[in-house]
Amino acid sequence: MLKIIVIGGGYAGLSFIKNLDYSITKSANITLISNTKFHYKSILLHNVVSHKDDITIPYEELLPNFINFINDEVIEIKDKVIITKNDKYEYDILVVALGFSSDDFGIKGVKEYTYSMINYDNCLELNQILEKQSNSDIVICGAGFSGIELIGNLANKFKNSKDIKLKCIEAMPTILPMFDSTNALYAKKYLENLGVEFYLGCKILEVKQDSIMVENNGKQEYIKSDFTLWTAGVKGNNVIDDSKIFESKKSKVEVDEYLNPINCNNKNIFIIGDCALLKDNKSGKFYAPTAQIALKQGKYLAQAISSKIKNKKFDKKFVYKNQGTICSLGKDCAIGIIGGKAVKGKLASVLKKLIELKWDLKLKGIKALF
Ligand SMILES: Cc1cc2nc3c(=O)[nH]c(=O)nc-3n(C[C@H](O)[C@H](O)[C@H](O)COP(=O)(O)OP(=O)(O)OC[C@H]3O[C@@H](n4cnc5c(N)ncnc54)[C@H](O)[C@@H]3O)c2cc1C
Repeated sequence: MLKIIVIGGGYAGLSFIKNLDYSITKSANITLISNTKFHYKSILLHNVVSHKDDITIPYEELLPNFINFINDEVIEIKDKVIITKNDKYEYDILVVALGFSSDDFGIKGVKEYTYSMINYDNCLELNQILEKQSNSDIVICGAGFSGIELIGNLANKFKNSKDIKLKCIEAMPTILPMFDSTNALYAKKYLENLGVEFYLGCKILEVKQDSIMVENNGKQEYIKSDFTLWTAGVKGNNVIDDSKIFESKKSKVEVDEYLNPINCNNKNIFIIGDCALLKDNKSGKFYAPTAQIALKQGKYLAQAISSKIKNKKFDKKFVYKNQGTICSLGKDCAIGIIGGKAVKGKLASVLKKLIELKWDLKLKGIKALF
């Protein structure tokens, strides 16, 4: 039997498994290795930090019984073998879907004094720390997508609190640079009305235990902080750096249009999701890491590998078209762009919930009609 191993069961890994043609199990043995016994929806991690939401579903409820499940932590990927904390596993085809970690950009103090949203368990810990805050200045470093989704939740949670101050530091002159300026300004005003203080155009130089040193208009300033959350950037998984068969950049590997790692001799290794760096041929830039592209890569790869095993012709390359993005501002408000059109307010929030519902239905094996 052919051995197919998937490492990581987030959006990319599960999308691969859910889209396979299961008739291939006559000739292939499929195994998922994950460091958790449950799938967690990473796009909702900010809800765990702010409201302790349960965003998990046990794999035993999700996986068909002919998929083997191993709960173990991958340590290193070698040619034809995976090394885990407790064992090693040989593979013929490997799908790497290990997700993201936080990027400190080498800034002093970030590792020691900040907290990042990385996985479900670590966000539960952040929630415990958050609940203990009183008379505190809470600082979110980074006004990109995940930082603003977190600050939106916190701003709604603490809007009536006199002793919690929320601050957001961003090096760029605006928040949410991926959206048009009207929408980004709408988001900023909405959050300011809930009491958030923005420090835009402030470059973080160092994080200290009780403050953040920034450069603002050429001058050094200190911004007081009792609890610092780091949402300034993500990279891939450290396992990538520790695996000598890859050439890694920021714990990610550049892949070609078939999702094979570039400069790797083993053509039966595929990398999908946040560990993959894929170039958009039009812009020459790498695609941003999102659940949306992770899901599409998983689906494409499932079709490609199913066809290969069934000896069916499949010569399509992976092509990506962004269908839009919606950033939640907490509660019933969001901004976004869908089908090229800007949306905001309650409508955007409803659309965001529909996108989340689509993945829930897919996990249950139901095809959404929207
Ligand atoms: C707060 C927040 C909000 C976001 N909102 C959006 C959004 O609205 N839309 C969007 O498109 N994207 C969003 N993203 C980005 C999105 O979450 C990621 O791009 C997406 O999760 C990538 O999917 P993935 O499968 O690569 O990784 P993940 O979904 O994170 O899955 C990785 C899996 O690998 C497992 N794993 C990790 N290390 C090991 C190991 N050593 N051994 C075994 N298993 C391991 C993990 O347990 C996990 O299950 C958001 C991210 C954050 C943090």
